Amino acid sequence: MNLLEFLRSRAPYYSCMNCGDSMEGCHLRVLGRAGQTTLVQATCRHCNHTVLLQIQLSGSSISADLPLEQPPDPSADPITDDEMIDLHQQLAADSNLSDLFSRR
Ligand SMILES: [Zn+2]
Repeated sequence: MNLLEFLRSRAPYYSCMNCGDSMEGCHLRVLGRAGQTTLVQATCRHCNHTVLLQIQLSGSSISADLPLEQPPDPSADPITDDEMIDLHQQLAADSNLSDLFSRR
C-alpha cells in the first residue's frame, strides 16, 4: 500500500474542518518530499477547502515513493501572502492527520 492509498482508506473516518462533511473521496496531491517527510494537499470534495498534511513515515510498511502528481506550472498565479501565512501556520503547528481533520 502506498501513502496515497493509505490516506484514501483513512479519509472516510475524518471530517472536513470547514464544512463538516466526510473527507471520503477528497482529492489528494503530493506536493513534495524531504527525507521521511511527505507534504500532501487534501481538498474536500464538498467545499474545496484545502489542508496541508505533513506526513512522517518511520518504520512503516507504507511506501511514500510516489511521483509528484504534476510538475510545477511556470505560468500559474503566484502564491499569495495569505497562502504563505496559512502554510506557515499549519507547518508551525507540527500538524498531522489528527490535528488537521476533526474526528467524526
Ligand atoms: Zn468541506
